[in-house]
Amino acid sequence: MNKDDFRKWSRRAADWGADYRETLGERPVRSRSAPGEVAAQIARTPPETPEQIDAIFADFERTIVPGMTHWQHPRFFAYFPANAAEISVIAEYLVTAMGAQCMLWQTSPAATELETVVLDWLRQALGLPEGFTGVIQDSASSATLAAVLTMRERALDWDGNRNGLSGHPAIRVYASNEVHSSIDRAIWISGIGSENLIRVPTSGPQRALDASALDSLIQQDKDAGHLPAGIIPCVGGTSVGGTDDIAAVCAVARKHGLYVHVDAAWAGSAMICPEYRHFWAGIEEADSIVFNPHKWLGASFDCSAHFLRDPDSLVKTLAIQPEFLKTHGKDHVINYSEWSIPLGRRFRALKIWFLIRAHGLEGLRSMIRNHVSWSEKLAQKVAAAPDFELVTNPMLSLFSFRYAPSGVTDLDDLNQRLVNTINDDGRIYLTQTRVDGKLVIRFQVGQFETSEQDVLFAYDVIRDCANSL
Ligand SMILES: *Cc1c(COP(=O)(O)O)cnc(C)c1O
Repeated sequence: MNKDDFRKWSRRAADWGADYRETLGERPVRSRSAPGEVAAQIARTPPETPEQIDAIFADFERTIVPGMTHWQHPRFFAYFPANAAEISVIAEYLVTAMGAQCMLWQTSPAATELETVVLDWLRQALGLPEGFTGVIQDSASSATLAAVLTMRERALDWDGNRNGLSGHPAIRVYASNEVHSSIDRAIWISGIGSENLIRVPTSGPQRALDASALDSLIQQDKDAGHLPAGIIPCVGGTSVGGTDDIAAVCAVARKHGLYVHVDAAWAGSAMICPEYRHFWAGIEEADSIVFNPHKWLGASFDCSAHFLRDPDSLVKTLAIQPEFLKTHGKDHVINYSEWSIPLGRRFRALKIWFLIRAHGLEGLRSMIRNHVSWSEKLAQKVAAAPDFELVTNPMLSLFSFRYAPSGVTDLDDLNQRLVNTINDDGRIYLTQTRVDGKLVIRFQVGQFETSEQDVLFAYDVIRDCANSL
């Protein structure tokens, strides 16, 4: 590509992005593509000779865009949001244009130093005490894996990395059933084994793990000669927002000398609003905390903030220093590749810097507060309808409900059909989950561009689709 073409097509891409965002509300939220439909339109063999950019761009619009589900759509109410604020998109364009690999301080000092500063901005924004140090991981799953490896190595006095796990007692980690599947995978990958992830029973409307049951499970494991290593509580579980009592969990952890990693991947963003911080009261006692600015806050995917009370135990677990990576005489600098599992690192701090400066914390807080209050309004409307049932109350902006007209016996089937009908309709997008064995419909409000009208309109769509069944 010549420099003039680069300029021309970069501008075209920027125009395309702006047009896309402006007209997004007119598209069906979930792609209507059938399995295999996109692949069938793409050449089976790669071209030997260069093609015109016009043709490539035209194929993108014709073939790829209809196969996209629109996560930035104002009526996206499924899963959790993956907000990419426009200012963050601009930062990502600049990062991609520079194309730096920021594994070490010297491979881009600005990337490392900005990361240190903006993670401290986020620490302050969440109300975490000084002394927590942050690092950006690619995903909450990676942060959790790093934390599980750290708890393993800490329990083994760093012998696992050297000699493997055989010859040691079984390492035990504790969590409720409300935690994300990334916890299970971290347990598999770290060699701890799923039998050693001990599920603590939950109770109450918050579906919080029972701290006294946790205490006795740990004691039983110690008595049996096992090696308890850590606890993974969650704040805002993925299914219906299950939230553990962090203070109670940390008290048990302190008693037994265990490491605590808090998964607040989604709900953590809301902690920029002081009035929601009671959901993680006691957080200052945790060892490790993850939340995803790439979910609710608006830093485009991927961007996961990982806070550590003592980064040394993480670095001791993950740092490898082959000769070619040593930056001699620069020991006072941070090399963030020693804090994470992949060696290579994207420059992710720029989008956080742009985002917070362009919106201000007040701007981001008011977005989150609006989402929470609109979600509560909708939940009340659903609860008031005689043929709908509110199954779980809003945790921040997430609640679940089901359609339960009298006389229907198979409500699971009815609700699955309702979700499918709603998503085929395309005006809104939402997903289902299971609560105590029942299939229910999840609803979360969190998209950057969502308005109160969009949320209330969702009720009409749900009602229409239910009537059509
Ligand atoms: C989304 C989510 C995760 C996984 O986040 P990734 O960044 O996609 O790995 C983990 N835990 C919770 C509670 C989540 O909501």
